[in-house]
Amino acid sequence: MSKLEDIVSLCKRRGFIFPGSDIYGGMAGTWDYGPLGVALKRKIMSEWWHFFVDNRDDIYGVDAAIIMNPRTWIASGHAATFSDPLVECKECHQRFRADKIASVSEKVSPDEFRATHTKCPNCGKENWDDVKQFNMMFTTHVGSVADDTSKAYLRPETAQGIFTNYKNVVDTIYPDLPFGLAQQGKAFRNEISPRDFVFRSREFEQMEIEYFVNPTTWEENFKKLLDSCHDFLEHIMNLPKDKIHDLEVAPADRAHYSKRTIDIEFDYPIGREELMGIAYRTDFDLGNIARESGKNMEYRDKKTNETFVPHVIEPSFGVERLVMAVLTTAYTEDEINGEKRIVLKLPENLAPYRFCVSPLLKNKPELVEKAKQVYNKLRDKYSNVTWDDSGNIGKRYRKQDEIGTFECVVIDFDTLEDDTVTVRDRDTTTQTRVKISTL
Ligand code: ATP
Repeated sequence: MSKLEDIVSLCKRRGFIFPGSDIYGGMAGTWDYGPLGVALKRKIMSEWWHFFVDNRDDIYGVDAAIIMNPRTWIASGHAATFSDPLVECKECHQRFRADKIASVSEKVSPDEFRATHTKCPNCGKENWDDVKQFNMMFTTHVGSVADDTSKAYLRPETAQGIFTNYKNVVDTIYPDLPFGLAQQGKAFRNEISPRDFVFRSREFEQMEIEYFVNPTTWEENFKKLLDSCHDFLEHIMNLPKDKIHDLEVAPADRAHYSKRTIDIEFDYPIGREELMGIAYRTDFDLGNIARESGKNMEYRDKKTNETFVPHVIEPSFGVERLVMAVLTTAYTEDEINGEKRIVLKLPENLAPYRFCVSPLLKNKPELVEKAKQVYNKLRDKYSNVTWDDSGNIGKRYRKQDEIGTFECVVIDFDTLEDDTVTVRDRDTTTQTRVKISTL
């Protein structure tokens, strides 16, 4: 298993992911994507959209504003209950999430925590302040006056932007039930201790579906969506099946809105942790919105004319956690002909580049010109093609291996004679001679 530090270091060295605001000493819990990271992240997100939206007849997209009317978060329960248990060591004043340093639930009481006799992970003492619930929503002010009336929140989940548009969608396109609404976008949580690279960030990206069903059918729809999630993780993201695990979340640990939750966990270098979740949110959200807005959230069944408030199944994916799972799976250290190398064995659909094109020698204009022709031809056909004429050929291969480029195409003097090129395969490093027209 690869180590987290190796992945973090590769990401920084090769331009995938940098610590946020690095130049000013950083900003805890934030990360910036560089050219390679953006390419990887976008591919993950567009594969998801393709799989869950474009390729299905029952799921539609929405893209809601990040800053929403604050009544959203009152109705959803986030203003009152979206919190983590915060505990402070009275000796060294370090703050921790109680459920991450002791085996207690997120709703642990001060006495329950004290009874665990947990020692401070920082100073080793056992002198704790009372556990308090810490609300994780970031606040801001909208407009030129910063007072209580202008207070707003950065959304802590994309889901509410979907729920608040449910009525708009039903009133405009009136889809058959069951149907889903999907959204991708930023979410913000003031995590008590952001950690483990992008795994627990304060600003991250979610891909969520709210799937509206007749309440009598929630169990079969839950199962179908769970199967689709596994299908996506195993066959589109190419994650190994034996590293993916379903965890039935105990009632005490479920979010305030959920009647059933399965966390899909992944074996990361940091251990087995939540990659994504699927929750049965019942009519909790639409019911709350109906109460808070005074608007009717009922759906009229097209065949039976029966009216009811749909129930909701929610598959919720975190992009950063998928990025980490994909990188963990791809990161490989091997030895070819006695030479050690690092290679990112990304699947073809996720590798930032399909081809790297280069002239054998940079200082031979005829080679450079021919290589440019090949580059333009391949870029027209595949779009994800890169050019590399830096250093010697061995260095280029090492670099392209580390960023997961599928194949390196090299133009040499024979190319000028017979229009053939050398194609080097990333995983086997074997080189074959092929006609340009076959690429
Ligand atoms: P955790 O228990 O790890 O804090 P959660 O159960 O609070 O996560 P959800 O509210 O279910 O997470 O959010 C849905 C998904 O969003 C998670 O499965 C995860 O993929 C992603 N996610 C949540 N919080 C973060 C975070 N701080 N950084 C990155 N991704 C996150």
